[in-house]
Amino acid sequence: MKPAVFNYIRPESVEETLQLLSDYGDDAKILSGGQSLIPVLNMRLSTPKYLIDIGRLEGLNYIREEGDHLSVGALVKHKDIESSPLVKELCPILGEAIRWVGTTQIRNRGTIGGSIAHGDPSAELPCVLAALRGEIVVASLEGEDVLSPEEFFLTYMLTSMQPDQVIKEIRFPIMSKKSAFSFVEVARTHGDFALAEAAVILETDETETVIKAQIAVGGVNPTPTVLEEVEDHIMGKKLTDELLTEVRRMTEGNVDPESDLHGTAEYRRELVGVLVQRALKTAGERVKKGAGRHE
Ligand SMILES: Cc1cc2nc3c(=O)[nH]c(=O)nc-3n(C[C@H](O)[C@H](O)[C@H](O)COP(=O)(O)OP(=O)(O)OC[C@H]3O[C@@H](n4cnc5c(N)ncnc54)[C@H](O)[C@@H]3O)c2cc1C
Repeated sequence: MKPAVFNYIRPESVEETLQLLSDYGDDAKILSGGQSLIPVLNMRLSTPKYLIDIGRLEGLNYIREEGDHLSVGALVKHKDIESSPLVKELCPILGEAIRWVGTTQIRNRGTIGGSIAHGDPSAELPCVLAALRGEIVVASLEGEDVLSPEEFFLTYMLTSMQPDQVIKEIRFPIMSKKSAFSFVEVARTHGDFALAEAAVILETDETETVIKAQIAVGGVNPTPTVLEEVEDHIMGKKLTDELLTEVRRMTEGNVDPESDLHGTAEYRRELVGVLVQRALKTAGERVKKGAGRHE
């Protein structure tokens, strides 16, 4: 199928983009890398009158260290995150997760802003952002808002963004040098969306007792989900096999997946429990080896 007729506009600046969004409201749609939107348009699931192509805007394509976080402009492509020395140095779980996003072709064109705006609960970046307690900067003519993932992701493919808003930047807290991490997922084939995924950041003291745990899962709830109960449960404990089994059971109790063509709810629930257990084990081994975040 071909998309419905639309007017194509390529603004020169963020300000012009915001003015266009304010003028056209619900009639407009932002086009960035097109990797999610073009199929949606082709299937006529969306029929905007105006397509605002921000793909070549200046000023939204940067990765930089700013205080305690890494700021990534909305137009940064997945491939640039994958190869960024700064990401590897300051937020390596992002580099580990991004390799799971689609295929090389998709990572060559898809942007971080597009991935976050799309709001797919199986997507890798929202899960990592939730685990790290990152932030999303959205702008309109009224000004900027800095939102947490909980404020931004509302449910399946639905975010709190208004038609006159654009994502400008994503902020990922810089990971401690003493922490280790793991991102794992299971998909039908590499490049497909995850059936379930888990992101873990872990820190232990010299006695191998957990002193910091950040855990999020994706693909099993309507939004990426921080497993606070599991995080609290493992604090102050050693990652024994017994504890990891408890973690698996707790994880299963904290998700409410749906059945679809690719797997039943029961399968996804069990799968995500195993993935969190596996990710924690890997992060625990990495901490022990002293590999920390640089592995
Ligand atoms: C075969 C296939 C496999 C895929 N596999 C994966 C996968 O494994 N993991 C994964 O995460 N994704 C996957 N995707 C989806 C896609 O790669 C990402 O969602 C993509 O990178 C989105 O970025 P984009 O720049 O292409 O966004 P676009 O397609 O241009 O836009 C996506 C949506 O976001 C909005 N938007 C884009 N940029 C902004 C912005 N700055 N501000 C506000 N709104 C904005 C658009 O209006 C649109 O609604 C897959 C896609 C395909 C076709």
